[in-house]
Order: sequence, then C-alpha cells, then structure tokens
Amino acid sequence: MPQSLSPQQLKTIAGEFGTPLYVYHAEKIKEQYEKLVTAFDNMNTVFFYACKALTNVNILKYVKSLGANIDCSSINEVKLAFHAGFPAERILYTSNGIAFDEIAEAKALGVIINIDSLSNLEKFGKRFGHSYPVGIRLRPNILAGGNLKISTGHDKSKFGIPVDQVEKILSLVKQYDLHIKDLHIHTGSEIKDVDVFLKGIEVLFEIVAHFPELEFIDLGGGFKVPYQDGDSETDMQLLAKKVKEEFTRHAETRGKDLQIWFEPGKFIVSECGYFITKVNVIKETHAADFVSVDSGFNHLIRPMFYDAYHRIENISNLQGPEKKYSVVGNICETDTFAWDRKLTEVNEGDYLVFYNAGAYGFEMSSNFNSRYKPAEVLVKDGKAQLIRKRDVFDDLLRNQLEIL
Ligand SMILES: *Cc1c(COP(=O)(O)O)cnc(C)c1O
Repeated sequence: MPQSLSPQQLKTIAGEFGTPLYVYHAEKIKEQYEKLVTAFDNMNTVFFYACKALTNVNILKYVKSLGANIDCSSINEVKLAFHAGFPAERILYTSNGIAFDEIAEAKALGVIINIDSLSNLEKFGKRFGHSYPVGIRLRPNILAGGNLKISTGHDKSKFGIPVDQVEKILSLVKQYDLHIKDLHIHTGSEIKDVDVFLKGIEVLFEIVAHFPELEFIDLGGGFKVPYQDGDSETDMQLLAKKVKEEFTRHAETRGKDLQIWFEPGKFIVSECGYFITKVNVIKETHAADFVSVDSGFNHLIRPMFYDAYHRIENISNLQGPEKKYSVVGNICETDTFAWDRKLTEVNEGDYLVFYNAGAYGFEMSSNFNSRYKPAEVLVKDGKAQLIRKRDVFDDLLRNQLEIL
C-alpha cells in the first residue's frame, strides 16, 4: 500500500495548526527512497538527496537516517547538511556559476565538489593542484525534461561545461595536474524516458578513458513523479536494468569499477507534501467561478513559474457534485493555481489541498505582499508535529534598518 495521508487526517491537521500549511509525511519519503535502493540493490550505486527541493532541517535529518547522502546547491545548504549531522564525505556540492571563494570554503569544509565552469576549474587547479580531488559537471547537450524551463542539459543551457569543450578541460587537467574523481551530468527535471539517462551515460563513456583517476559517474536527478491521475513515475526497475546493461557493455572501458551516483530531489520529497489552504471568497463571473484561497504564488509558485500541475482536492466536501472553478490566490498579482479545474462543490471556509507539494513548494516561498510564509508540519509514526512556525509580524521588519 503506498503511503499517504487521508483527507480526514489532513482536515484534522489543518484544524489544529491553521492554514496555509505545508504538511510532510515521513513514511512516504522512506517509501520513495527505498524504491531507489531496491531497484539498484545489485549495483554499486549511491543516492544523494538534492536538498534544494526541501531543506527543513528535520527533513534533512530524516533523509540522513534513511541512509541517503546529500547534494547541495549553495554553501549554505552545505552548512545545513552539516547541521543536520551529515559527515563531509556524504555531502556533495554541485556548484552553478558561484564565486570561487565558495568553492574554496567548501574545500576547507572537506566536502565533495563538482565544478561547472572552465574558469573555476582553472582557479581550483592554480590553488590546489592535485591535492584535493574534484568532480566536473558536464553539459551533455541533450534536450530532456518536463519543459524548457526545467531542462538543464541542452545545448543552450547555462549548466555545466559543454562536453564539446572536453579538450579545454583536458588541457587544464594536464596543466595543473588536477585530480578528477567524478564526472557529473544533470539533464533536467521530470525525465520519464529512461533512455535519456542512457544517452547521458553514452556521452560520459566517450570520454572516461581520459580520466584515469575517475571513481564515480554522477547521473544527476530529475526523475519524474506522477502529478495527476494516469501519470506515471520514472520506471526505476527498468532504469536500473538498462543502466546495468550499459555499464556492462562498457566494462572494458572501466564500466565495472565506477560507482554510480544519482541526485534525486523531487522523486524523494514531491509526493510526501500537502499544501493546505482555506477558501476566503467565491466570486462568480461570466468568465469563471473564482475560488480565492488564503495563499498565492508567494507560497506555491510552481503553477505560475513553470506551468506545473498540482492536483487539488476539496477535503471539506469530498462527496459533493463536481463543478469547474478557477483556483486563485489572495495577492495583488495574477496568481492562478488552476484554470477550469473540476472540484467538488466549493464553499467559503472549505479546505483545498494541493498535492505533490513537498518539492519546490515551501522552498520557493516568499513574503511577497508582506504576507507570512506558511508553517510546516511533519507527520511521522502517525503523529503531526510543527517543524516551522508561521511567520509573525516582526519577521517582516527583521533585518530592516529604520533610518527615517
Ligand atoms: C535540482 C538538482 C537536482 C534534483 O532535481 P530533481 O528534478 O528535483 O530530481 C539534482 N542535481 C542537481 C545538480 C540539481 O541542480
């Protein structure tokens, strides 16, 4: 039985903690992590949770307790990972266009580092030479992912060093005697087609022979999760089988001794999350029946930002007749969550739940319109506990210096 929280449980939690509210279900995180581990259990594979999806420190500690490593996108995420108890050797910092100071700081902290530009690779070589192993983030020039805004590996993307510049990489490696320990690619988000990962492996195996000190191949994250009825997730069993075949095929070019890394974010935490809102106002117009909830893109930006689809359910009226609504927020800016969405009849005061709210939900929230960021609750072993307080008025003024 897949792990999930029932509408009744969510209603009780909303009543206790108020709305808008993010709720995370620990056992669902475990289920997702175990799916990965089980699928790859006969291979030399390690999973790094891409924590930018959701960084509440309780989530980080929980993911650590499951045995996962962690992938970070900023030096502060690295520090949060230490705070959550990860040792340096389980922390990976995959950098994107960052100042070299941060790379030097990550090195001083002893974590694993992926470098994504020739410029920083050269600075690293000049400063540290062979003394500290480092990984290279490559851009494989493959177009993949849910849509262009969440695609990162194509030939116009800013991410990674284009694989067509491998000669330049090699000359830096030679010049500074760099110790290259891993090659990394991350092609995009919501990749269902397992062949995309295989294409990535092909690209990497064309060049692995140039890196004799290589120990790991890092295939990034981007696994798809289901968002609506009929959707499916990346088939992990199939992916594992095909990755294994691919590595066996390349056995003579070191396919046998390279450890495989993955960096799943969304796959681990998307479905564990529920965002509960309350209906403020219903407005019937010629164009649509608008349902305004006590939130907006200040709390869940994905629909407006990259047309993400979130299933919505009226948990206050599960059996009512269905009608079509446009679900919007309460901020002064267009903040549509869903157009023409079928919901069971909605009344003011009802709770609407947004599913798949664990990844890139709270994490991308803001105080726009001077509204408070939502609270966060973790449900574990059947018990709901507050893991982040809702903002209060003082939070809006914190850090402001009143000079007038
Ligand atoms: C964001 C990111 C991931 C995770 O992507 P998901 O789509 O959440 O799985 C993995 N690796 C890197 C380098 C990333 O930037």
